[in-house]
Amino acid sequence: MSKDVTKYVYFFGEGKAEGSASMKDLLGGKGANLADMTSIGLPVPPGFTISTEACAYYSANDSTYPEGLREEVLKHLDHLEKVMGAKLGDSENPLLVSVRSGAAQSMPGMMDTVLNLGMNPDSAKALAKKTNNERFAWDSYRRFMQMFGDVVMGVPHHEFEEALQSVKTERNCEFDTDLDVEDMKEVIDRYRALYKRYIGEDFPTDPIDQLFKAINAVFGSWNNDRAIRYRQMNDIRGLLGTAVNVQSMVFGNMGATSGTGVAFTRDPSTGEDKFYGEYLMNAQGEDVVAGIRTPQTIDTLKSVNEKVYQQLVDIRDLLEKHYKDMQDIEFTIQEGTLYMLQTRNGKRTIFSWLRSQVEMVESGLISKETAVGRVPAGEFNKLFAPVLDSDDIDKQGVQEVTKGLNASPGGACGQVYFSAEKAEEMAALGKDVILARVETSPEDIGGMAVAKGVITTRGGMTSHAAVVARGMGCPCVSGAGDISINYKDGSMKVGDKVVREGDFISIDGFTGQVYFAHIQVKPSEIVQVLNGEMKSDESLLFQNYNKFMGYVDEIRKLRVRTNADTPADTHMAVQLGAEGIGLCRTEHMFFGGQRIISVRKMILANNKVEREKALAELLPMQRQDFEEIFTELNGLPATVRLLDPPLHEFLPNDHTSRHEMALQLGISVEEIAQKTTQLHEFNPMLGFRGCRLAIVYPEILHMQVRAIIEAALNVSEKGTEVHPEIMIPLVGHYKEFEYTKKHAIETIEKVFAERGKKIAYKIGTMIEVPRAAITADEIAKSAEFFSFGTNDLTQMTCGFSRDDAASFLGPYVNDTDKQFYEYDPFATIDIDGVGKLVKIASELGRSVNPKIKLGICGEHGGDPKTIDFCQKVGLDYVSCSPFRVPVARLAAAQAVLKK
Ligand code: PEP
Ligand code: MG
Repeated sequence: MSKDVTKYVYFFGEGKAEGSASMKDLLGGKGANLADMTSIGLPVPPGFTISTEACAYYSANDSTYPEGLREEVLKHLDHLEKVMGAKLGDSENPLLVSVRSGAAQSMPGMMDTVLNLGMNPDSAKALAKKTNNERFAWDSYRRFMQMFGDVVMGVPHHEFEEALQSVKTERNCEFDTDLDVEDMKEVIDRYRALYKRYIGEDFPTDPIDQLFKAINAVFGSWNNDRAIRYRQMNDIRGLLGTAVNVQSMVFGNMGATSGTGVAFTRDPSTGEDKFYGEYLMNAQGEDVVAGIRTPQTIDTLKSVNEKVYQQLVDIRDLLEKHYKDMQDIEFTIQEGTLYMLQTRNGKRTIFSWLRSQVEMVESGLISKETAVGRVPAGEFNKLFAPVLDSDDIDKQGVQEVTKGLNASPGGACGQVYFSAEKAEEMAALGKDVILARVETSPEDIGGMAVAKGVITTRGGMTSHAAVVARGMGCPCVSGAGDISINYKDGSMKVGDKVVREGDFISIDGFTGQVYFAHIQVKPSEIVQVLNGEMKSDESLLFQNYNKFMGYVDEIRKLRVRTNADTPADTHMAVQLGAEGIGLCRTEHMFFGGQRIISVRKMILANNKVEREKALAELLPMQRQDFEEIFTELNGLPATVRLLDPPLHEFLPNDHTSRHEMALQLGISVEEIAQKTTQLHEFNPMLGFRGCRLAIVYPEILHMQVRAIIEAALNVSEKGTEVHPEIMIPLVGHYKEFEYTKKHAIETIEKVFAERGKKIAYKIGTMIEVPRAAITADEIAKSAEFFSFGTNDLTQMTCGFSRDDAASFLGPYVNDTDKQFYEYDPFATIDIDGVGKLVKIASELGRSVNPKIKLGICGEHGGDPKTIDFCQKVGLDYVSCSPFRVPVARLAAAQAVLKK
């Protein structure tokens, strides 16, 4: 067998380093930047980094080391001891080290860290002598025992706390700092006994033993539950593991001239270009985090130690110039000398992202491409949604009662109602309402439109509630399965917590959290400007947003359209940068007032004549809808889809509503019940819907096409350009398309003849049935565009019902032993399956019709990872709900940069 010659350990110290900033994958972010800071001359305590490859080996090989690793660590320790002139665990001149985790992407607090390693009774005595500070030495030993016992060996943290507290109580001490040397030694004795009781052996005094146990603990912590969950939640994938940084300790708790702190080179919440941070004198890192003492703001350090303050200010400048991004740093001052312990790109809010990147572009520090490439697209929608006020949550001390899917972003608070009618009634009285339903259907649209937020207990990311709420920019939590709703007595509960109709609840559509409490909501500033409620020159955020979107649009190639079916949504989408409508779902225009009555007449019609009569009532209403939308679009194209859902969705399903309908139409309840039964399908999503409706009842198509073309002519006569595109849904066979297209053209020609005028139009289809995708060359011969309806295409390709797959998709995506799908396939396209069909259909389509226009209009059209895929496949545009338009623009630009 050949000998393993891989290098696993990299030294840094004395101005030289074996690693560099570009080695993040191998050395982790912390290790690579420690090496880098050392090389650029910053004061970094020397140490070495064990690579992520070693961790990967350890994880994959039953917690064993690759050949030679132990020797390599010992060799580097030896070198470190020489550089420091001190020895680990020595009774004369002891070296102490920290052992810290650090993966390629930062996972703050998720993995293990051990400080003060190398402490034992001998080194504690030596440290006391050396520092002339006995209390400090024994306190350091105590801290080490506690950390090592807890983090490395798993002795419960509270046991240590209780042992410490017992000594404090016996000695009448309030604070740790009141304990003297003898008290500290007593604490140490109790810790020792505690350790032995739990672990069954003595606390290790051999520093080499301590070191390897700590390294193993850090390697092992890569796969602790917390770390796994964090990676899942933050979509951190494909990393080898964590690196381990062994670094000589510096002490911030050596007295009044020592201290420790954390700082950001810019404000992480607003992005303002000012030094922002906190420090504590006479403290170690965990004291700052634990919040027992209140840290001071960084500017006050000037009066404590002006030299160190100035040095930090200079380092701040240098680091930003070096890394060309906002940094988050950790430092320690040991007896008046500054040491840098960490630098990394700072985590920040989306507001801070925008401001910091725009200001860096304007100051010439970075290019527009760099700025656009960095801003997290997944966070972008937070700019537009109202938010639950976190100060209010803290002030009230409220807790979430449950968590569902974060289906549509935004915070909402209101009185809960369990039916759309009741929600509408209460909203009309001026109340803020939250609509809670087991699931929603098109019937609920009125209630959803007036609701501040929507909750469903069933349904995933493309369930009706999720799709419609996103389209409306209405916060929504879907699939909150722990909630049970009782429609009869008007209540819902989670465990023993109950709210009744009219009680206040709050939801957070960013996170899926549900609160049974009244929480304040703050509106988005950008939306206030777009709505004209705030002047743009009063909003720095809006100005930065505008500049940033300017950079985005210079880079992107994909066009971005919107899914909109009302003039208001269209208006907002255009304000947000939409370049047309990619999907106008006409069925959404079939609800409310007289419309639904006419639609129901059409459905109940016994023959063509009756049906045409009902359709004639609908025609002017549809025409007017289109006129308003075309006017809003002001020359941008509009893809209008003909009626798609199964007809039963337009009929009421409860007794009271059926009664009302019977009265309205002058028919019997039985007649309605009979028709409903007749329309009942076991699997309506695969049933009588889409183009099948237009094929069996061409008169529906005739009415809709006439409405579209007449509206287009009317609007263009008034001087506004109109580009109508008629889209046939759910085509599976090219003959279905050709049949419906022929009918559409006949109607169009009739209208042209009547009006003595023509207008350019296009006719195309959705590709949402797998058969259509694999026979796309046949369809493309007569279709002018394809729009991939990836909601249905996913449903039919994977065989997952889009309305209730959530029950098993959770485990399919999240459970570590499953993860059959990398992401929820209804949110991010399943590239290998559904994506393959999109690619095949695009290639087939273009092979016979090179000019065919290709787009996507399923919910995936607003998802950054899917947009990256669309760019690769070469689609012309993506279409998404209005508030996702800016995200899609950004993701489209990032897709170009990635390429
Ligand atoms: C789709 O199926 O992807 C689509 C856009 O149509 P709908 O969601 O209306 O079925
Ligand atoms: Mg569809």
